Amino acid sequence: MVKETEKDLCDEKCIHPQSICLVRQSMLDENTIYDLSEMFKVLSEPSRIRILHALSRRELCVCDLAEALGMNQSAISHQLRILRNARLVKFRKEGKEAWYSLDDEHVITLMCQGIEHISHGKGK
Ligand SMILES: [Zn+2]
Repeated sequence: MVKETEKDLCDEKCIHPQSICLVRQSMLDENTIYDLSEMFKVLSEPSRIRILHALSRRELCVCDLAEALGMNQSAISHQLRILRNARLVKFRKEGKEAWYSLDDEHVITLMCQGIEHISHGKGK
């Protein structure tokens, strides 16, 4: 009798050589795996998601960002530094103002795809 915990496994070991070949040929290199996992770590913090989402609307100066999200300057600057180091946001200085935006189109796509993925098929 199949135990409850084994329902998500094949009943018998079955190897499909072409599939194995395909996966092995397209394996990510270790550096890419590391960088990708570091990027997802940075994305795993709710306040950083809030910041990225705000910046997906438009470029914002640090003061507006802090005000809009109800965060203090030191908290926001801490999170922005982490996001900057991960190349998820960039900033430019204009006179006395520091303006932040998403680093490039890929970051917008990452956010949009993530939101779409969690929104569809809820209650499945
Ligand atoms: Zn990019």
